[in-house]
Amino acid sequence: MSGRRKFIKTAALGSVGLSTFSACATQAAEVLKTTADKTIKKPVIISTWNHGLAANQAAWDTLKNGESGLSAIETGLKISEADPKVRSVGYGGLPDREGKVTLDACIMDKNSDCGSVSFLQGIKHPISVARKVLEKTPHVMLTGKGALNFALSQGFKEENLLTPESEKAWKNWLEKSKYQPVINIENHDTISMLLVDSDGNLTGGCTTSGAAWKMHGRVGDSPIIGAGLFLDNEVGGAAATGLGEAVIRTAGSAMVVELMRQGKSPNEACKIIVERIYNKHKNHKDMPHLQVGFIAVNKQGEYGGYSLRSGFNFAVCDAKNGNRMEKPDFKMTWKD
Ligand code: ASP
Repeated sequence: MSGRRKFIKTAALGSVGLSTFSACATQAAEVLKTTADKTIKKPVIISTWNHGLAANQAAWDTLKNGESGLSAIETGLKISEADPKVRSVGYGGLPDREGKVTLDACIMDKNSDCGSVSFLQGIKHPISVARKVLEKTPHVMLTGKGALNFALSQGFKEENLLTPESEKAWKNWLEKSKYQPVINIENHDTISMLLVDSDGNLTGGCTTSGAAWKMHGRVGDSPIIGAGLFLDNEVGGAAATGLGEAVIRTAGSAMVVELMRQGKSPNEACKIIVERIYNKHKNHKDMPHLQVGFIAVNKQGEYGGYSLRSGFNFAVCDAKNGNRMEKPDFKMTWKD
């Protein structure tokens, strides 16, 4: 196991706000540690990967405007979905092996209501469609053509999500067509976001284009409540990134929440589940390219994360420390 590590965050996103609530704005350079801060004040927003920083900011601003947790999560995640430079989410996401961008997303609120879409094509904001599933249907999950038809019926516009850059990457891949899930290569995979508001109420969401070059029709963990995302408003929430198959096999996010229910801290709970995933996969064919990372937050606003391999990071936003990147501990490096 690696030791505790720190790093300096250099990115900047706007200025430091004046009021307590707006103080989430990113600070220029701050040394950060991975341990959950016991004195942290709610609200807290935590999101996977570097693109979580801009998403956190948008979510924070939405919450600050007095909007709901669902609106904050949706608004935050839409930032990554719309960004063509984020090649693992929404518009510009890397396609499957047939060159099709297929999207998975889910959202869950403090009442345990949830909405999810999987294998959705041609809609830039799957997280918004997932929210509509939650709010407008008697169901939790819609998939494929049915999800698309539902989105169109709700006024969403069908558009081409394959950018020239992602198409070029796919054509390069086609030359060898060697299938291996591409996970965690460039530090900007699935965005999963968890939010605890000032009353301690939880909301969460996930959105992704999934593993690049996946088989057409493959669905990962991200739209599956209990795998890519889970929360229980009495306890806390957890969300995953990494090889979805491994997270589904272990009901990863639900298990992290159950461990917190038993008294584990967010950090401890994430670590125990990553250890479990490692133990179940150490002789598995997926092991050479296996990466999983979890983030978690409890009702008190303590947060944490842990990953199987190095390279995982997450963005955290709270009034005390601003919006910044943190690197959690991990079990092993890619060379181990
Ligand atoms: N969990 C996602 C999936 O398996 C991918 C990722 O997080 O990078 O589809």
